[in-house]
Amino acid sequence: MTISRRNLIRTTSGVAALSLIGKLSSQIDDRHHVVVVGGGFAGSTLARYLSLWGEQKFRITLIDPSSEHSSCVMSNLVLTNQIALSKLTFSHTPLADRFNFATRVGSVSEIKAGAKSVLLADGSELSYDTLVLATGIELDAIDGYDPARIPHAWIAGDSTELLRQQLNEELPAGGHVVMTIPEAPYRCPPGPYERACLLAAMARQITDANGGSGVNGSPTVTVLDANEDIQAEKATFTAAFEELYGDIIDYRRGVKITRIDSDNRTAYTTVGAFSGDVLNVIPNHQAPAILRNAGLVPTGDRWAPVDPVTYESALIGGIYVIGDAQATSQPKSAHMANAQAKVCADAIIRKTAGLATHASERINNLTTNSACFSPVNFNEAAWLTAVFRYNTASRLMELAPNSLGASEGWDRESYDDMYTWASNLFSDTFV
Ligand SMILES: Cc1cc2nc3c(=O)[nH]c(=O)nc-3n(C[C@H](O)[C@H](O)[C@H](O)COP(=O)(O)OP(=O)(O)OC[C@H]3O[C@@H](n4cnc5c(N)ncnc54)[C@H](O)[C@@H]3O)c2cc1C
Repeated sequence: MTISRRNLIRTTSGVAALSLIGKLSSQIDDRHHVVVVGGGFAGSTLARYLSLWGEQKFRITLIDPSSEHSSCVMSNLVLTNQIALSKLTFSHTPLADRFNFATRVGSVSEIKAGAKSVLLADGSELSYDTLVLATGIELDAIDGYDPARIPHAWIAGDSTELLRQQLNEELPAGGHVVMTIPEAPYRCPPGPYERACLLAAMARQITDANGGSGVNGSPTVTVLDANEDIQAEKATFTAAFEELYGDIIDYRRGVKITRIDSDNRTAYTTVGAFSGDVLNVIPNHQAPAILRNAGLVPTGDRWAPVDPVTYESALIGGIYVIGDAQATSQPKSAHMANAQAKVCADAIIRKTAGLATHASERINNLTTNSACFSPVNFNEAAWLTAVFRYNTASRLMELAPNSLGASEGWDRESYDDMYTWASNLFSDTFV
């Protein structure tokens, strides 16, 4: 089960449950309408593979507030001016044309499970036979926090551009950046630590361009982690913080945000107040309100429980939840969202065709996988990968034995591999 480095780059799905596909579509009623809410990594992959494996028998409608999706994957490199956000932005139209499904620009405001329909913010209503929710995350509100002025850059788009602009135009030589890390589980476990490294690289570059010092002497990046420890690639990031940025990064554990002063770029926390020339606040995450309001998230929980054999909601039948919004303990990542979407597409096809989704040949081979590449400076990266396998006894997706792989430190080759890996993932999702 060990994934080699080369396989990591090539692999964009660990799904091993597709043996019957190709023999089923004649049994699918072509009036069956699948509505997919969200055109990010999970939703776009779902629409793509449901159409492909279902041999275009389904009527599919993909709904998203935008006609295009900006990828969070690689978006930390937008901050360092190494990639333009436009290069990470994918229109839904070519995918929909190629795989013959409909798109609708709009935001779903309510799920009417009883009526099998969704309400859109423009007041229109769309009925479905099967509903797939691929909405990603919602960021918690924080007292005083104005995301229009204090960027999170954790849902790629305007916020990413705002943080890029503040770093490039408002961070002086010897300047001070403050960033916060949300409580786990959050999307992309290594992502915040990768960002801390890149913020430090930026702060150093700006200072070096000024002769090595600035108004405050050396630059600093204060990292306020709500968790008690580094959440992914601990050895790598501990080494990176010490060896690459020991003079810049001030990493603090177990710090909870209580209030943000958006005018003065100050974070008030359980251990005091921290002000920066640039303040990057990444709030805690949860499944979006439309899922919570529909009863898909138990009271007091943050994520939607599902059966990982199908991704059907554990609470409301006929509704599937894939990607970051669902509650399995698999990492919240784009690679994983892509893999879950394939398992879900396969399950929807089987269920619609009247075949068993929990047949032993399927559940005994059900795997997903995840991969994250983390640049730690302008030309070197580390990586992490894991395979998850369905345990028929616990009925959970569990880390497969010996499948956890991580780079030893960081290097240039991994940085180059990162582009190949991302290109493969983007192609398998949006193209
Ligand atoms: C900086 C950063 C770096 C990352 N790097 C990696 C990496 O290296 N590898 C990796 O695998 N993952 C990475 N990730 C994580 C990855 O981006 C997410 O896990 C992934 O995007 C989750 O996919 P999703 O489909 O669940 O959500 P998203 O991709 O966010 O898509 C959700 C979509 O739903 C739409 N939507 C939301 N609400 C509604 C509504 N009410 N109606 C209609 N549409 C709606 C949104 O507009 C959006 O298009 C990174 C994340 C960040 C922030």
